[in-house]
Order: sequence, then structure tokens, then C-alpha cells
Amino acid sequence: MKEEITSFAPGHLALGYICSKLSSKLLKVEVNLPLIFLFSVLPDIDILIPQLNHRGPTHSTIVAFLFFIPFLIVYSKKSVPYLIALVQHSTIGDFFAGKTQILWPISIRYYGMDIPIDSPTNITVEWICFLISIVIMVKSNDLRKLFGKMNNLNLVLFIPTTAIFLPTLFSFPLKVPIEHLFPHIAYAAIFTMSMVKGLYEINIAKK
Ligand SMILES: [Zn+2]
Repeated sequence: MKEEITSFAPGHLALGYICSKLSSKLLKVEVNLPLIFLFSVLPDIDILIPQLNHRGPTHSTIVAFLFFIPFLIVYSKKSVPYLIALVQHSTIGDFFAGKTQILWPISIRYYGMDIPIDSPTNITVEWICFLISIVIMVKSNDLRKLFGKMNNLNLVLFIPTTAIFLPTLFSFPLKVPIEHLFPHIAYAAIFTMSMVKGLYEINIAKK
């Protein structure tokens, strides 16, 4: 492991979902939920790439905008909620609970409030975001959609599910503080059940 993990996936997933849901409402566009969750944790791919510093270039807002230019050209405002899901990761979540190279390559400085992950402030904020995300998911019928009609795209939930288990994979035995455990289990359970149901339906459709 190259660096200790100082933020957890459920916070990123909850905030990514809330922010992109809000933007999709404002822009009056539909969003694909598995893709929103994927983009919410995507910057942490650097944990798996030995050549990259954690919270370095993959957490840069400049890199995110450049990466999204083709999508903005082709899909215009439909792609904006996904860009927001990607950018909130480092500008809100990691900024709050750590420091990131938000302006790489213009500046290599790490910006952030660096609030400790096991502090009461962090735990409270994570829980508030988690609860808000679940309430919106239930009220907007998104939770039902995750268990509704499936397509192959739903299997991308495998990536956010892996992100949830990253702290465990990199620092076995489980290093997640007990207060953070329930959001981890809840998100992992929702995604896993959604994928299992998806695989089942895809198999049924093939027969
Ligand atoms: Zn991150």
C-alpha cells in the first residue's frame, strides 16, 4: 500500500449522488445511476496505479474538465451531472477530509481542510450525506430503479463496490472505524443486490 486511505467511498458515493441528482433536476435531464456512482469514485483509481500519487492528477479539476470535453461536445448538458459527480469527489469530499492536487498541472500544491476521518465532525457529515442520499434515493424511486429493469451497464456497479472495499483490501483486517461501517455495508449491499438481480435478468433474457 503506498499511502493510507483517508476518506471512504460511501461519502463520495452519497455526495456524488446528491450533487448530480440536483444538477439533473435543474438541467431537466435523466441520469444513469450506476454511471453516477462510477464517476463519484473514479479519481481514487490512483490507489491502484503505483506510478501516481494518491490525490494527485486524477483528482485535478482541470484534468476532469479536459477528460469531459468530448462528452460535453457529443452529449452537451446530458453529460453535466456526470462531470459534477467526478468533480465533487476532490472539490468537496477529499477537500474536506484531506488534501488534493485540485489544480494540477497548473499548481502542484495540495489544497484541503484535512479533517481527520475518525473525527466527530467527519463522522457526522458522512452520516448526514449518507442519510440524505438514501432519503432521495427512496423518494425519487431511484432505489427501485436500481432493482428494476437491468441492462449490461448496471454491471459497472462492480467498480464502486470495489471502491467500498478498498480500505479492507489495502489494510486487512478491516480498518474502517465502527461509526463508518453501516454506510459501507448499506451501499455495498444495494450495489451487490442490484448486480445479482441484473445478472439474473440478463441470463433469463438469454434463455
Ligand atoms: Zn479521492
